[in-house]
Amino acid sequence: MFDNLTQKLTQTFKNLRGQGRLSEDNIRDALRDVRLALLEADVALPVVKDFIQNVREQAMGEAVVKSLTPGQVFVKIVHDELVQLMGARNDRLDLSARPPAVILLAGLQGSGKTTTSAKLALWLKDKEKKRVLMVSTDVYRPAAMEQLAHLGKDIAVDVFPSGTDQQPVRIAQDAVAAAQRGVYDVLIVDTAGRLHVDGEMMAEAQALTAATQPVELLFVVDAMTGQDAVNTAKAFNDALPLTGVILTKADGDARGGAALSVRAVTGKPIKFIGIGEKIRKGLEPFYPDRMASRILG
Ligand code: GDP
Repeated sequence: MFDNLTQKLTQTFKNLRGQGRLSEDNIRDALRDVRLALLEADVALPVVKDFIQNVREQAMGEAVVKSLTPGQVFVKIVHDELVQLMGARNDRLDLSARPPAVILLAGLQGSGKTTTSAKLALWLKDKEKKRVLMVSTDVYRPAAMEQLAHLGKDIAVDVFPSGTDQQPVRIAQDAVAAAQRGVYDVLIVDTAGRLHVDGEMMAEAQALTAATQPVELLFVVDAMTGQDAVNTAKAFNDALPLTGVILTKADGDARGGAALSVRAVTGKPIKFIGIGEKIRKGLEPFYPDRMASRILG
């Protein structure tokens, strides 16, 4: 992720460092380069504008121009702004509810919900020592239900059985009751997606939210879809009380625009990123500062 952006910014900073003292002119040039680099990385335009404005205000400050190493100070300003843009810190999952803490995953079909359900279940089991139950409410795609059952077996996490002849809300309610009876700490609800945002899908996700009262309602989105990822995130965020985002397929995304825009556009933190198809090692907590350092090479 961010390969191109890193390359572009490295060049910009190199030019800047070669300048000795900074002037308004070379700051302006550098800002123009940063702006272009962000746009090429597919960062949403309003986000780029705000970002550049913030960096400009700080970079034009007296302390920067008078600094002996203005190039380095400029890089630090960009770094800190990137961290802010992505949410400043890692937002952990809030599992403090009375068990079972329900985590509901919503998103478009193919975004990686089912895979992410299993990755998250494994992470909670191994890292947080939680007893996890999973359930699929995707009554439209038997293959999705089978996929979850199969993944559950693979990682030794229980899956509440569900069938395509049932109502999604009913399945979820039964799964919550089963999780209570079985003294599970966490119930992960994998929901049905569609290929595009549509009213029925949102209505179903809203009904599932009302029925299960999730402590975490996570929007799962494919990073490779760039600006579309951000538009979809906005639509889901408008319709549902999201608590965070999981950005999948970050391993296949060379530009990184969604990672940089989603937080600013929705106000919701990215909590995890998917970094591969493998259930084991395919999910990482998202750390804005590490990501910013990676972007700046
Ligand atoms: P769903 O329709 O939202 O449940 O999506 P799936 O979980 O079935 O995933 C769709 C495809 O994306 C599958 O081929 C997954 O292996 C793949 N996938 C999911 N997450 C990642 C990821 O982080 N990286 C990569 N490279 N592929 C992923």
